Amino acid sequence: MGEKGSKKAVDTGFSALGLDPRLQEALTGLGYEEPSPIQREAIPILLTGKDLIGQAATGTGKTAAFALPLLHRLSLEDKKRIRPYALVLVPTRELAMQVAEAVHRYGRPLGASVLPVYGGQAYGPQIRALERGSDVVIATPGRALDLIKRKSLRLDGIRIVVLDEADEMLDMGFAEDIESILSDTPKERQTVLFSATLPPRIAAIARKHLTEPQKVQIQREPSAPGTVPLVKQTAYIVPRGHKLATLGRVLDIENPSAAIVFCRRRNEVDELVETLGARGCRVEGLHGGMTQEQRNRVMKKFRGETADLLIATDVAARGLDIQHLSHVINFDVPVEIESYVHRIGRVGRAGREGVAITLAEPREHRQLRMIEQATGQKIAIEKIPTVADLRARRLELTRASIREAIVDGELERYRVIVESLAGEFDVMDVAMAAAKLLHQSIGSEDGDEEEIPDVEPFRERPFRDGRGGGAGRGGPRERRRPGGGESRGADMTRLFVGAGRAAGVRPQDLVGAITGEAGLTGRQVGDIDIADRFSLVEVPSELADTVIDALRGARIKGRSVTVRRERERGKD
Ligand code: AMP
Repeated sequence: MGEKGSKKAVDTGFSALGLDPRLQEALTGLGYEEPSPIQREAIPILLTGKDLIGQAATGTGKTAAFALPLLHRLSLEDKKRIRPYALVLVPTRELAMQVAEAVHRYGRPLGASVLPVYGGQAYGPQIRALERGSDVVIATPGRALDLIKRKSLRLDGIRIVVLDEADEMLDMGFAEDIESILSDTPKERQTVLFSATLPPRIAAIARKHLTEPQKVQIQREPSAPGTVPLVKQTAYIVPRGHKLATLGRVLDIENPSAAIVFCRRRNEVDELVETLGARGCRVEGLHGGMTQEQRNRVMKKFRGETADLLIATDVAARGLDIQHLSHVINFDVPVEIESYVHRIGRVGRAGREGVAITLAEPREHRQLRMIEQATGQKIAIEKIPTVADLRARRLELTRASIREAIVDGELERYRVIVESLAGEFDVMDVAMAAAKLLHQSIGSEDGDEEEIPDVEPFRERPFRDGRGGGAGRGGPRERRRPGGGESRGADMTRLFVGAGRAAGVRPQDLVGAITGEAGLTGRQVGDIDIADRFSLVEVPSELADTVIDALRGARIKGRSVTVRRERERGKD
């Protein structure tokens, strides 16, 4: 902390961690300004080759925390070694793609090859890619095991295994698969386990498969009362691809008089300045890569109120004293809780009402909850304003402008217009046409706004106790109860899936398909019963249709299957 804008040469703070300079360069290129707490602590340990248990949720920068040292160690290896060198196990297809993308971006200057493999995808291309040779394989456990059995995924060259989101993988029923994979990898490997929570089941895996692991836990001491400013805090849960549109919508609805939008990366600052500028906002950007002179110029504009929006990274905004803000908008959940507190502390000063709005990706919901716990303040999750909300709000602004004009008076010189038209048209029509022209001229005309999908926020522990079988009466059935076993009170609907044990279906295949295709978390999937020829799966009732639609087009164990609500079954 305490870093002020006076520093000239930009040190990303990553140089102290001992990473290969090419990796540091990659990070600068990506616009990272400094390591997050989990990175600062985990990277030096992992570089020594020690095993590690890291407690960190999505949104804390945990991917880079394991990926950077992994790539650094890979770069020191003999080029002729057996591939793959590292295996990263993740709970979902979505995460496999996300992690693979991150490792690829960090590892590009080293020429590292990265391959994501997950269920639901055809085997052929994955097998061929594995034959060509990949340095880092990112896999969901079920598919990894399948590929190991087919002898396509070789484990004898593996020197690093990462279990990412271990708690989530266990909740999805992957414990056995993980055990089996770990037992098959060479003993002299480095094993890294990341998990948002560390329940006893995780400790048991760590005891069995990790060697003298170092523990890294990001402090979450609650803030002392009174140190967190009282600000109205809300959040929207938004898929990554819709963030920019949501920011635009939020700005339209909130109409802030002066706001800071915080981002994690320099590139994001540049991108937002460009897009919002193109939309007609008076916007300026501020990040750690700018010279002092450039920063001064920006601040002058913002203070002089010739800009209403400032887009900034945490590093760049530190030490800035800005008085007149109405809004702080977090384009990302900050990787550090302390940053969140700093950010929101910039509104609501001197007794003025301030608003802090955070855009969080679905997976970052946990990090939001951790911030709530640490600050002792509620962050209300709200529905993203719809196109109809936006249109209503714009009409409201036009109405307010007209009202203001009436109150201001001095309308006499326009009487001639209204009177001359009144002979031909209804006065109401004349007024409506005038309102339309005003509405259009202030840029409030309806454009081609798209509806932004509302995402179900991930629930904390949505499990309830498993219910007994009931419906299927076809011989012995394999049952899976979701982890946790806590009461969830959510209304669940049972779905019939037309494939069962005879087709080789296992609980984790169903969880994998549902999370992968329909975007649910493992925790949202309830009881699973697998009979010979069919399976029954519980999902939250409000998501049942989404799951049915998503699975109808999907393949389970390589084939398409019937999926419908259970009570539609003729026999029941
Ligand atoms: P993760 O918790 O690994 O899912 O990372 C969350 C997000 O933070 C990703 O979009 C990363 O690109 C970003 N990120 C990770 N580390 C940093 C950092 N040191 N500075 C800025 N952004 C980061």
